[in-house]
Amino acid sequence: MKFESYSFAPEILQALAECGYETMTPIQRLAIPPVRRGQDVLASAQTGTGKTAAFALPILQKLLDTPKAREATKTRALILAPTRELTEQIANNIKAYAKHLDMAVTTVFGGGKTDVQAQKLRKGTDIIVATPGRLLEHLLAGNLSLAAVEFLVLDEADRMLDMGFIADIQKLIQACNKERQTLMFSATFSGGVRKLADEIMKKHTVLTA
Ligand code: AMP
Repeated sequence: MKFESYSFAPEILQALAECGYETMTPIQRLAIPPVRRGQDVLASAQTGTGKTAAFALPILQKLLDTPKAREATKTRALILAPTRELTEQIANNIKAYAKHLDMAVTTVFGGGKTDVQAQKLRKGTDIIVATPGRLLEHLLAGNLSLAAVEFLVLDEADRMLDMGFIADIQKLIQACNKERQTLMFSATFSGGVRKLADEIMKKHTVLTA
């Protein structure tokens, strides 16, 4: 199956061609249609399977479909991931897919310079890719609002739970707009992952690639 069959904007298709992507990976074939339809999704996916594009492409398309002015501290999409390396990898992929779009992507992680991150958040950004602990610090410091978040993604949810991020994640989610669409990706569906999925998502679709 090719990306062209899913009616993405020409700017997105061009970026995918430049990335050298020709056909979809199994998780992309499975996840893109329900995400485009607006469903909440819990998907099992290992790293290296193309899961970043599986959530990022439909989110970028949906952000494009309903353009909004970029307001200071009003973020439209939030992606939480367990490590700095992963946040950078996800953000770099999203920037490549959004190369021909006007989207601001900001990365926030523990260990990075807090004041530089705060400055970027205060300027306003469309998409934040963050580790939970540092993002919560910025939220409590008033550097951003999550009240306008339309898309929330938890990537490597099982690892985030193993690393003890649950309380931070719950606080961040409480600050998010209730009307959002939520997507969870996890290598395993542990009891903790399923419990969190039931807590933070509406009736959700479970996908196994
Ligand atoms: P991810 O699992 O999202 O970290 O992706 C793993 C690797 O696969 C990354 O280097 C992506 O650039 C690449 N990739 C993702 N989707 C595709 C695709 N449809 N065709 C070729 N490469 C892809």
